[in-house]
Amino acid sequence: MSMELEATCPDCGEQTFYRAASTTLHLGEKVKWHCPSCDYGFVQINGIDSSAV
Ligand SMILES: [Zn+2]
Repeated sequence: MSMELEATCPDCGEQTFYRAASTTLHLGEKVKWHCPSCDYGFVQINGIDSSAV
């Protein structure tokens, strides 16, 4: 499982996110990704972006 993710930060333009936390749920794996250059972060469930968590 990768600890880095290629994604562009909408706040600062950083292009590599780091895994901040992961949790296994009944519907799959929930992963929090964090931008190392600012406080922006987002959540994926089974690799799909989710803002509903
Ligand atoms: Zn950023």
